[in-house]
Amino acid sequence: MCGLHGELELPPTSQHFCPRCFSINFEKRVLKRIPRHIRGHSIAVALSGGKDSTTLLHVLNKFRRKLKIPTLFAIVLEEENLEIQATREKIIDELKATYPDIQYIQKSFTELFGYSLPKLVQQSDSKGLRFTPCAICGILHRHGILRIALDLRVDFIAMGNTIDDEAETVFLNIIRGNLEKNFRDTIQYRSVNKQPLPTRIKPLEKISEKTIRDYCRVNQLSIMKKKCTFAKRSFRSQITQFLIEIEKKNPRVLYNVTSPINKDMLLKTSVVQVHKCETCSSYSPKPECSACRIVRQIMS
Ligand code: SF4
Ligand SMILES: [Zn+2]
Ligand SMILES: [Zn+2]
Repeated sequence: MCGLHGELELPPTSQHFCPRCFSINFEKRVLKRIPRHIRGHSIAVALSGGKDSTTLLHVLNKFRRKLKIPTLFAIVLEEENLEIQATREKIIDELKATYPDIQYIQKSFTELFGYSLPKLVQQSDSKGLRFTPCAICGILHRHGILRIALDLRVDFIAMGNTIDDEAETVFLNIIRGNLEKNFRDTIQYRSVNKQPLPTRIKPLEKISEKTIRDYCRVNQLSIMKKKCTFAKRSFRSQITQFLIEIEKKNPRVLYNVTSPINKDMLLKTSVVQVHKCETCSSYSPKPECSACRIVRQIMS
C-alpha cells in the first residue's frame, strides 16, 4: 500500500486501493491460484476475447518469466455466431499485435465438429429438442479446447472462470436437484490408454467479474464488450441477474455462496477413467464423447 487514497476495492476485503496498488494486489491474487508445478510447462489459455480470458492472458503473459512458462498459447474456438464473430476477430487481431510472443490457434466449430453453433441451434429448435444454445456451446467448447490442447501437447489449460461462474453453478445445481454436485470430490481424469491429459486451472475463480472489469479499465485492456445473442436463452443468465441484484445489497454474497462448497470439495480427489472418443480425438468417460453425441442427436 502506497498510502494514497484510492477508490478501487478488492472484495472480500473492504480495503480501498489506488489503481497501481489495486493492480499489484489483483495480480498477486491471480498468481496465488496458479499451482507451483506449472513451472517449466506450456500453458494454453482458452481465449474468447471477453474480459475474463483476456485478463488471464494478460497476467500470465506479464509474469511468464517468473512462472517459467516456455510457450504460452491462446486457443480461440469460434462458434461462428455472425452477430459477434467480426467483433471478436477485431479484438483477437488487437491482442496479437499487443502480445506478439503468444502463439494463437484459431479454429471454428465447423472445422472441429462439422457445424456452426447457429446451425446446431436452428436444427435443435426445429426438431423440438430441449437443448439450450449454451448447453450445446458449453459441451462443444469443452471438448474442442481439449482436442486442440492435446494436439499442442500442453500440460495445462487455463480457463477464465470467475467466482460469479462458481456461485451461479452452485445455484444451478440446487435448482436442478443436483445438490450433491456442490459437495463432490475434486475429479481427476485419467485416460485408459495412458495418454497424458492436460489439467484445467482456473486462476480467476476467487475474483469477481466486477473486480475484473476494474482491472481491465485501469490497465486499458482491449476486450470484447459485445454479448453473445444466445446468452439470454440460458437459465444461467437469470441466475446471473439474480446474483447481481443481491450483490448490490451484500458485496460478500459470491464469497459466502462459494466458500463452504470449496472447503468441502478440497477434502478428497477421485479418479475417473476416460476413453479416447471413437469419433473424434477427445476424451470422455463413455466411448462416444458428449460433443459427438449431442451433434449426432441434433443432426441425425
Ligand atoms: S452465451 Fe452461451 S452460446 Fe453464447 S458463447 Fe456463451 S455459452 Fe456459448
Ligand atoms: Zn497505492
Ligand atoms: Zn468425440
